[in-house]
Amino acid sequence: MKVLVATEKPFAKVAVEGIKQIIENAGYELALLENYTDINDLYQVVADADALIVRSDKVTPEVIEHATKLKIVVRAGAGYDNLDLPACTARNIVAMNTPGQNSNAVAELALGMMVYMARNQFTPGTGKELLGKNIGIHAYGNVGKLVAKIAKGFGMTVYAYDPFVKKEIMENESVIVCNTVEELYSKCHYVSLHIPANEQTKKSIGYDLLSKMPKGGTLINTARKEVINEEELVKLLEERTDLKYATDMTAGNHAELIEKFGIRVFATPKKMGAETAEANINAGLAAANQIVKFFQTGDTTFQVNKKHEVKN
Ligand code: NAD
Repeated sequence: MKVLVATEKPFAKVAVEGIKQIIENAGYELALLENYTDINDLYQVVADADALIVRSDKVTPEVIEHATKLKIVVRAGAGYDNLDLPACTARNIVAMNTPGQNSNAVAELALGMMVYMARNQFTPGTGKELLGKNIGIHAYGNVGKLVAKIAKGFGMTVYAYDPFVKKEIMENESVIVCNTVEELYSKCHYVSLHIPANEQTKKSIGYDLLSKMPKGGTLINTARKEVINEEELVKLLEERTDLKYATDMTAGNHAELIEKFGIRVFATPKKMGAETAEANINAGLAAANQIVKFFQTGDTTFQVNKKHEVKN
């Protein structure tokens, strides 16, 4: 059984060593393709792989076509929009993510960006404190709930909107539940975005919603750039000179945003929410363990493509 780790941007060395140990202890073989720049290199090594671990690498229908023996692909991370799920499903390949493994890293970055924006990107002048401000958690998943927890430590009042999480769960964690997304944005000085990018959410954060934010509001996006309506964001920032936007996913129109709005906009130079040694190791090891469990017991707990369509 061959398990391929294919990473344009490699895991930390210690993570690769851990993955190797898990795979070899199970009696399987590990193959490594790191820092590849030519997609043909991936096509070649994936040809005899039974399992594939990737990070942000795109698993396209073409990759799947070359992977004639593939039974499982695991995205070491939470978001899995880099996996072509219909292509996996069509070939009975189980697709998984490793939810929760990098959530703390992302949550800490979100709060860090809030402080950074509240202090005018550390430029001279008077900033603001987070204490006593309202924070809105847009999607109370693995990252969202950790942002809520850390924000309470800053003395913020935490609101959340997530129609797929039971109210009682949020209320038990001292979070004020909003019944509509509009309510969340109109109440909160800071909104931290944690929705996945899917057909329902793409471009869903736009002018109408953001214009509900109170004076001096800041939107923090550590989720995905696709959920933002970038044209409408420009229009809004032009009209509402009090609002700010910070993102871990450089906007398609980043240059325009910086030119027009200066330090009211910030983007990390490269997506770095999950870029901590801890998250790297956690996600890599989880991916390896999930593959071993899948082959040994048929476990599909973290499967993200349609189970009923995939015959394991
Ligand atoms: P998660 O799956 O644990 O949580 C997502 C939450 O979104 C769920 O609670 C779900 O109920 C909720 N949700 C789905 N659709 C919604 C909608 N239309 N409105 C409101 N809520 C909705 O995911 P997570 O691990 O918390 O990750 C959240 C986001 O962060 C994802 O977009 C992921 O891709 C992104 N992420 C970014 C980085 C980074 O490096 N910046 C790292 C990890 C995750």
